[in-house]
Amino acid sequence: MLTRGEFLLSLVATALESGRIWAEAPAAGPPPAAKPELPTDGAGDFARELAALRARRPVPVSDRLRRFSARYASFARSRWDVGSPAYGPRGSFPEEPLPTGSAVRRGADAGSIELVHRGQGTRQGRADWPAVTRQLKQAAQSFGAALVGVTRVDPLWLYAVDRAGGPVQLPGGLTTAVVLALEADDEADAPPSTRAAAASRPAYVRMAAAAVATGRFLTDLGWRAQPSVNDTALSIALAVDAGLGELGRNGLLITRQFGPRVRLCKVFTDARLVPDAAVTFGVRKFCALCAKCAEDCPSGAISRGEPAWEGPSRLSNPGALKWYVNGEKCLAFRRANGNSCDTCVRSCLLNNPAG
Ligand code: SF4
Ligand code: SF4
Repeated sequence: MLTRGEFLLSLVATALESGRIWAEAPAAGPPPAAKPELPTDGAGDFARELAALRARRPVPVSDRLRRFSARYASFARSRWDVGSPAYGPRGSFPEEPLPTGSAVRRGADAGSIELVHRGQGTRQGRADWPAVTRQLKQAAQSFGAALVGVTRVDPLWLYAVDRAGGPVQLPGGLTTAVVLALEADDEADAPPSTRAAAASRPAYVRMAAAAVATGRFLTDLGWRAQPSVNDTALSIALAVDAGLGELGRNGLLITRQFGPRVRLCKVFTDARLVPDAAVTFGVRKFCALCAKCAEDCPSGAISRGEPAWEGPSRLSNPGALKWYVNGEKCLAFRRANGNSCDTCVRSCLLNNPAG
């Protein structure tokens, strides 16, 4: 039986075949040619694979794109960016008690944890990479991942600096990422609410556990691995490259199986796992017609217009042809609302609800 998302996409496909949906209008702006930026190990194979990856990427990028600063991640700004809507202590919901105590929310908040497990595998050379890739994906699924994809790491997706302002540099040779998508099951507590905010925290713990266990699996095989949750690199961009889904108007990864209702983590490794190809299954064309998330967004942060090469606020990293979310408006709303929202997940027409 088709999921709700698959059913909607099949409608789009039918409409496209019959010519009832217009082709996406080309947006004004620079040509989508990304300047090659090679990793420090300079491997020739990697350079070729990176060029191929960029050539088939469904979201075009231009020379203007630069690595993004993790200092501008919303929760990092609460510590330093005086004058930003995110600055200062994070909000609370005094009118509604936490369901299982504040420890659930504070103690289990692993979203900002810098994972310390960095495997020291010493193995080098060739292996049966298709077989290793299959084993690794099975292992990651047993550790809690609903979806697993592999990609070479485009250096453009690494943060320029971390949340503390320090440089981000992957160790040489860690040019592959295993991207894990965990099904988010916390939407039963409708956001924005205290219950939803609390329920999201254990989800971050599950992400951290899955990433560390997957990294450990690789190091046990002899390869190096560095697990990561929200740190080090842009998870959504890596997930698109790894074929887990497409980028939606709401700025989130839209998967076939769950829509945007996933949480992402990744493991960087020097294992030359077989990369997956980016996928397109109609999301971009569907979003061009839909815009329900933009209608429902309580802060008006989601674009109702065409994809553009730059966004409306300083949180927008220009140089990709996409729908930009106004991070300042989103932050201001979440701050006033006690730090939670996620309406753009729940309201998405491609969201496949849990249960
Ligand atoms: S989290 Fe809420 S305010 Fe922010 S973009 Fe999504 S719907 Fe809008
Ligand atoms: S709700 Fe937004 S992200 Fe979801 S399908 Fe519609 S336009 Fe795309």
